[in-house]
Parts: sequence; C-alpha cells; structure tokens
Amino acid sequence: MTEVRTRFAPSPTGFQHLGGFRTAFFAYLFAKKHGGKFLLRIEDTDRERLVPGSIRFIIEELGWLGISIDEGPSRAELKEIGEDWNDAPNLGGECGPYIQSLRLPRYKEVADLLIEKGFAYRCDCTAEMLERERAEQMARRELPGYSGYCRTRNVPADKPHVVRFKMPTKRALSFVDAIRGRVNWDTIPLRDTVLLKSSGFPMYHLAVVVDDHDMRISHVFRGIEWLSTAPIHLLLYEALGWEPPVFAHMPLVNGTDGKKLSKRTGALNARQVREMGYLPETVLNFVSLIGWAPGEGSNQEIFTRDELVKAFSLEGINPASGVFDITKMEWMNGMYIRNLSVGEFIERCQPYLAQAAVSVPADQFAALAPHVQERVKTMIEVAPMVDFLTDKPLNRELNLMFNKGIDGPKAREIVTRSVAAIEALPEFTVDAIDQALRGVATELGLKPGPAFGVLRVAVTGKTVTPPLFESFAVLGKDKVLSRLRETLDLIPQ
Ligand code: GLU
Repeated sequence: MTEVRTRFAPSPTGFQHLGGFRTAFFAYLFAKKHGGKFLLRIEDTDRERLVPGSIRFIIEELGWLGISIDEGPSRAELKEIGEDWNDAPNLGGECGPYIQSLRLPRYKEVADLLIEKGFAYRCDCTAEMLERERAEQMARRELPGYSGYCRTRNVPADKPHVVRFKMPTKRALSFVDAIRGRVNWDTIPLRDTVLLKSSGFPMYHLAVVVDDHDMRISHVFRGIEWLSTAPIHLLLYEALGWEPPVFAHMPLVNGTDGKKLSKRTGALNARQVREMGYLPETVLNFVSLIGWAPGEGSNQEIFTRDELVKAFSLEGINPASGVFDITKMEWMNGMYIRNLSVGEFIERCQPYLAQAAVSVPADQFAALAPHVQERVKTMIEVAPMVDFLTDKPLNRELNLMFNKGIDGPKAREIVTRSVAAIEALPEFTVDAIDQALRGVATELGLKPGPAFGVLRVAVTGKTVTPPLFESFAVLGKDKVLSRLRETLDLIPQ
C-alpha cells in the first residue's frame, strides 16, 4: 500500500454530533494503524450555510478527544478567514491550504481543464429557465435535473456562467466500497451537475475530488449520504486521469429507537458530552463501538487508544446503521472514572469544579476524592457531592430527614444527642465519629440508616454525599457542630 493518508473534511455549517466525530476517529485510527497521516480539511464553500464558531468548535473538540492532526490549516490560513482566536493551532503541511475557500484558483484551473478536455461546459441558464425546465420535467415525471441545454452552446467565458459536468446517462458504473463491498449502477441517475458556481466557488463534488487528489488521500471515510453521488466523483477522477482513493462510506448512527438521532435520543455533540462530564477516553471508546467490532471471538469492550489502533480494521465496520445508547456510555464513563489514579481524578475534576463555581480546599478535596470517585458516573456529579465543604450557606431540605419513623421531635433528639456525643470526643477521627454516632442511634432504639440520614441532611444539606463519617472528619469538628446546632433552630418543635 502506498502511504495511507486519511482526512476529516467537515463543513463548518454547525456543531457536529458524535456521529461526525466517529467518522473522524475511524479515519484517524485507520491512518495510525498503517503508520500514515490524518488530515483536517475545512470545506467552507457553501457560504450561505456557514455557522460562526463551528471551525473553532471542530478543532477544539478534536483536540479534547485527543484525535491529533498531522496536517491541516496553518495559523495564517485560519487568520485569513477570520479565525483568529487565542490558542488556534498552527497545523500546516505540504499540501496546503487546507481550507477550501483559500483554494479557489485551483478549482478554476481544474474546471478549465475539464472544459478543455470536453468533460465540462459553461452554462448561463438563468434561475427562471432552470425553474421552468424543472417544472416541465416534473410534469413529465422525468428525472429532475439540468437537461444539458448548454452542452453544445459554447457559452463564452466572459459571460456570467456556471461550469457543469457532462454526466453520461447510458453508462454502467461500479466500484468496491471498503465497507459495503461492490456497489453497481446500471445507469447513473444523475444529470449534469454544477461543478463551479458563477461566484467562483466550487460545489462539493469538484472540490472534494481536487482536494483528495492534491492532498494524496488514499482512503476517504465519509458519511453514507455521499454514496449516491459517488458516480460523479468516480467519473471526475476518470476524466482527469487521476486514480481514485478507496472509499469507505460510513453507516448512519441511529438512536435507541432505531430512528435518526434526535435531541431526545442523544444527538449530542462533543462539547455537550464534555460539559455533561464524560471523559474523552470514554467518548472515543464508546463511539468506536458504534457499528464497529473487533472481530470474531472477541467481546472486548474497553479499549485504550493504542488497543483501538491495533484492533481497528475496515472489515470490522458493520454496513448497517449503528445505535447510540447513552445509558451504556454513562456506564462506561463510570468505569473509566474508577480506573483513573486518584491523582488523575483530582486533576480532571478541576475544570468541572470551576464550571460549577465550587471551590473546595485542596487537602479536603483530596481526602474525599477516592470516595467520590467510587460514586460518580459523570464528572458533573462531583461538584454537588463536595460543595458542602464550602462556606456557602446550606439550603437544607428538612423534609428529606423525615422518613422511616422519623418526625420533628425525633430528628431534634438525634441532633441534640449527636452534638453532645461529638463534643465529648477527644479526637475527631473517622472511627471515633463512627462509634459515637452509632451509639446515639442505639440509645434511641433507631436503625443507623434513618438516624444518619438526619445527620447527613443537617450537616451537608443533601442525601447523597461521600460516606458520612469521612465527610464529617474532613469538614472538621467545629463546622459539624455548628451546622448541627443551626439545624436545631430549623426543625419545627
Ligand atoms: N464536507 C462534507 C461534510 O461535512 C464532507 C464529506 C466528505 O468527507 O467528503 O459532509
């Protein structure tokens, strides 16, 4: 095989959901497996659909996911199209520019070459003419599309025009897709399509072929939605005398209801899942298992990036649509969180604590971190578990204390006796607190669960925290006592 070069070629027309990043990741894995290169190309030729912020989003989220790019837009290229943010990367490479709007002269050059060779022609039909033609085709129940009226008109180059590709209609075509096997067309159901617009901007079909060729792309991973227009690309390669790359048309990602991903079924993008507290390694492991499996005899589900690189193969991709199941991703995230070293966990918590504006003394957080790590499935669950360590006034929902035979007077009694038992402790250690508070429950003839439930709400304001005695020990005797006393003023007599 010649050098493997794959690319991710997003259009900055919105914030790609995880399905898009899966395509990028598969292209990356394939390149890495074969010691090749992974490129990023920005396909920004559809000027009406550009969404501000989406280029930065793509670059930042690829970075967060750790999908490293070997070649892509340089800082100067980004700047030239107004993408001039702090920390914008300077990728670059020998096949630049990697942003299509900076490559217009090259598309014009190839369009001219196609005209010269007789594979394309200039067309000056007006929008009204095309509209009329379309209406007539519909009335005749014909394949809609341009009739080819200008094919022989020789429209002069100095008149406003588009460039169209001469699509052969009576021609069979066939190619081997790396995922779906052989794909055949008996006749090509496509009419003379526009390659270059009158504005000088190319259509996708021309730009993608020129760039994949110029950037020496060996394997094209792209969405299944492009399969139906693949004949245009194959014919363009043929007309230009270029060797086409291997195509791998990626299956769709559906929701658990079997339908296209929607908000409800988790059409989430990488930034959203980051903000929801997923670790990048979970996201990569998880999306790689949507529609891909390591092959016969392996049930492995948890893969490091290196293991994925080793195990990945095109044969393992299932041509049928894959399913995105967020509950499973949550489960997997919990596993990844528990597998982190405590030190790493503490470090990874910092942006999430900052995001929730929860600032906990580092030593206190470190003391509770191993317990928190055991209990969370996503990183955003961390802050609410430890925010009782801050000095923010507690907002106790007292009714959470009252269950299993605990009423107001009983709760007061538990708190009063606990204050006395804690005051008497010479040492405020986990064991000492444990003994003292169990003693209080026994004296009152209560099961520990409901009694401790009262104390938990009294001191932390919540029902879910790290283990009680550890939490108390970390918070410190004075604060525990003052919060218990505070509660006495709140519980109704
Ligand atoms: N710009 C196209 C898209 O975002 C890319 C298709 C391709 O990878 O060739 O859908």
